[in-house]
Formats: sequence, C-alpha cells, structure tokens
Amino acid sequence: MSKPASGSSVRRPFMAHEHNHSHCVDDALEQADAQCRRRGQRLTPLRRRVLELVWASHEPVKAYDLLARLRENNPRAAPPTVYRALDFLLQEGFIHRVATLNAFVGCGEPGEAHGGQFLICTGCGAAAEMDDPQLSAILAERARGLGFRVDHTTLEMSGLCAACQTR
Ligand SMILES: [Zn+2]
Ligand SMILES: [Zn+2]
Ligand SMILES: [Zn+2]
Repeated sequence: MSKPASGSSVRRPFMAHEHNHSHCVDDALEQADAQCRRRGQRLTPLRRRVLELVWASHEPVKAYDLLARLRENNPRAAPPTVYRALDFLLQEGFIHRVATLNAFVGCGEPGEAHGGQFLICTGCGAAAEMDDPQLSAILAERARGLGFRVDHTTLEMSGLCAACQTR
C-alpha cells in the first residue's frame, strides 16, 4: 500500500488516486471479523455487506446510496435494514458518520473508542481521518475557558488532497 507520510495520529490516510483498493476493503473486513470474534459480536452477512459497501471507495457514502446498492442483490432490503446495520457498525467503531455530508466512511483503524477529525477533499471526494489527542485537548481547554464541558468533538475540514492539488 502506498501510504503517504503520516504521523501516528492518522487513522485513515489519503491514498494515491491509483491504488489497489481491494487491499483496503480486505483489510477493513478482516479487522471487523477479528474484532467481532474478540468481542463475541456477530458480523452477520448483511452487516458485513453494508461495511463492504461503505468501503466501496474512499468517499463518504449516504445511507440511501447504500440501500440502492444493497437492493441490487437483495431487492427486498428496506431502509430500517440499512439503518440497523449502520448503527451496529457505528457502535463497533468500524465506520464513522461525517456530519457535514450526512454520510458514512469506514474507519481505517477501528478498535478503541476515538473521535475522528476528518479531512474531506472537495476535488475527488475522498475523506481522511486523523485522531490527534493534542488537537482535541486544545479545543476542550478553549471550551473550558467559556465554562463549557465538551462531551464529544466533531471536526471536519474541507479542502484539497495532495493528489488533487497537483492536478
Ligand atoms: Zn483504497
Ligand atoms: Zn476512526
Ligand atoms: Zn482529492
């Protein structure tokens, strides 16, 4: 995999536009399988399929697009089916919701709980994920200065990835 230079806080880098994406999908499914086995959770064929569809590309995907793709093989799939599967995947940390796009992306490094900081490319649509504790700490401290106690931080930035800048 051609990972760009990345600090330890990067959970999901921007990939080169040309890369073997089947590796990304296989990695994600393997990590999910392993974590479910460890935690005694069931990655049902449907949950697995929805995770695979979320990982179809590096672009965040909307629930109704997932439903449309799911229906190609499973014509009777209904919205609650997709939402229940998404809830499970969110809860297990396999995917994140990108609030500004109301869409979902796969997590590059699921496992322990973390709040993602997302970089969204307006050129190619890809999303990268950072998890920089220092950044969260600074924001929490500033918020405390206003007498505010932070429970959850969502940070999403839009711009251009390195590949799109050189185009
Ligand atoms: Zn990929
Ligand atoms: Zn993540
Ligand atoms: Zn881009």
